[in-house]
Amino acid sequence: MSDQPRKPLPKPSPLSQPFWDGLAAGELRLQRCDGCDTYVFYPRPYCPRCLSEALTWRAVSGRGRVYTYTIVRRAMHPAFQPDVPYVFAIVELEEGPRVETNVVGCSPEDVRVEMPVKAVYDMTTAGIALLKFEPA
Ligand SMILES: [Zn+2]
Repeated sequence: MSDQPRKPLPKPSPLSQPFWDGLAAGELRLQRCDGCDTYVFYPRPYCPRCLSEALTWRAVSGRGRVYTYTIVRRAMHPAFQPDVPYVFAIVELEEGPRVETNVVGCSPEDVRVEMPVKAVYDMTTAGIALLKFEPA
C-alpha cells in the first residue's frame, strides 16, 4: 500500500450515471430538454429553464471555449500537490452549458480566455473518467 494521499473522486448518482458512463466511453453526454431545446448541465431531474421533466441524454461535440480560469499554485488537498501548477477553468461548451474543469495539454501560462478547447477523458484507476479539456 502506498502512503500517497488519494484524490477525491466523483460519486455518480442514478441521475448523473449517464454522464459518467459517457466519459468512460470517451464521449461527452448532456441532457437536452425536449420542451425548450436547451442543453442542461449539471444533470438534473427537470429543466431549469422551463421545468419540463422531458430530458434526453445526447452526445455533444466536446468543443468549447475557455470562459475563465485560474492557475492553481498551492494545492488545496495533499493529493494534488504533484500537479501544481495546474489550470482550473470554466469552459463554455459549444452547446451552451458551462462546466468546471481543468485545461491540460499545454503550459498553464499558455491558457487564455476564449481559447478554443476540446474534451479529453482522463481515466482514473478507479474506472471513473474525468472531463478535462485541451487546446483545440
Ligand atoms: Zn426546458
